[in-house]
Amino acid sequence: MRRNGTLILCYHRVAEGVEDPFYLCVSPDNFAAHLEEMLRAREPSTLADVSVPSRRPRVVVTFDDGYRDNLTNALPIAESKGAPITVFVTSGILGNHNGLWWDRLGTLLRSRPSHVREIDLPVGDRNVRLPLGSSGIRADLDSVRRHLLPLRVTEIERALDAVSEQWQVDSAPPPDAGTLTPEDLLRLAASDTATIGAHTVDHVRLRDRPAREQQDTIAGSKGELEQSIGRAVSHFAYPFGRRDDFDDRSVDAVRSAAFDTACTTIPGTARSSTDPYRLPRRLVMDWGRLRFRVQMQRWRLG
Ligand SMILES: [Zn+2]
Repeated sequence: MRRNGTLILCYHRVAEGVEDPFYLCVSPDNFAAHLEEMLRAREPSTLADVSVPSRRPRVVVTFDDGYRDNLTNALPIAESKGAPITVFVTSGILGNHNGLWWDRLGTLLRSRPSHVREIDLPVGDRNVRLPLGSSGIRADLDSVRRHLLPLRVTEIERALDAVSEQWQVDSAPPPDAGTLTPEDLLRLAASDTATIGAHTVDHVRLRDRPAREQQDTIAGSKGELEQSIGRAVSHFAYPFGRRDDFDDRSVDAVRSAAFDTACTTIPGTARSSTDPYRLPRRLVMDWGRLRFRVQMQRWRLG
C-alpha cells in the first residue's frame, strides 16, 4: 500500500527532428511507448483524484508551458492510448508569436556572429557581460539562462531585444517551437482526454517576487484561461517548479486563487497525505521504451 502513490509525470513537448537545447522534447514514438508502459503498470488518472486513496498505483500525465505540439502531436497519441493528459498553459503566450523566451535565447545564441565572443545583457540598471563560445552552445545557453532566470519576463524580453539589435540577428523562436493559439486552446479543451491547467500569465520564476506580483500572475492565468475555455481551471503548476523556483508566497497565492492542486518538479510520488499545493513530479526525457520501463521501476522504489 505504501508504494501505491500517484506518479505524476512532467512532459513539455512531443516532437522530433527539432532544436532541443533544453531537452524538452520527447519523440512521438517514445511518447506512445511511454504511455503503453505506464498503462501496463499503473491506472491512468487525473489530478482531481490525487488526494483520494487508491488500491492500485496511478499515473498522471502532465505537460508544462503550452506548446502547440501538445495539441498536434501529444493529444492524438494520448487519445488513441486512452491516457488523460493535463496541459498547464502559460496564458500570456496564447497567440503570442514571441513564444517562450528560452526559445528566443536559443535562436540568438545559434545565430551569434562568429567574431562575437561575449554577450552584454542589460539587467535592470546595470550591464552583465558574459563570455561565450569557449565550451559550446549548451554551456552558453546555461550561463545566460542562469542570469536571466531571476528577472521579470518583460526585463528578459528587453535584454534579448537589445542583444538581437546589437548583433543584428533575428531572435524569433523556431517555427516548430510555436505555442498554442486561442483557437488551439479551445480544440485542446474540447477533447475529453485533455484538462487545461494554469502555469502563470508570463512564466516568471516566482521565488522572491513581491506577493502582489505573484498573485497577479497566478490568479491572472486562472482567470484568463477560464474566460477562454468557459470552464473552471482547477490545477496549477509552478514555472520551473524546483524547490528554489517558488516560495511560501507562491503557495499562498495558489491557495487564495482557489486552485485544487499545484504541481512542482520536486521528485517524488504523491500520496493521499501529500500537500496538494506541493505535488511532486518526475521529469520525463526522450527515453526509449526500455529506459522508460527502468525509470518507472526506479521511481516506484525511490
Ligand atoms: Zn514551464
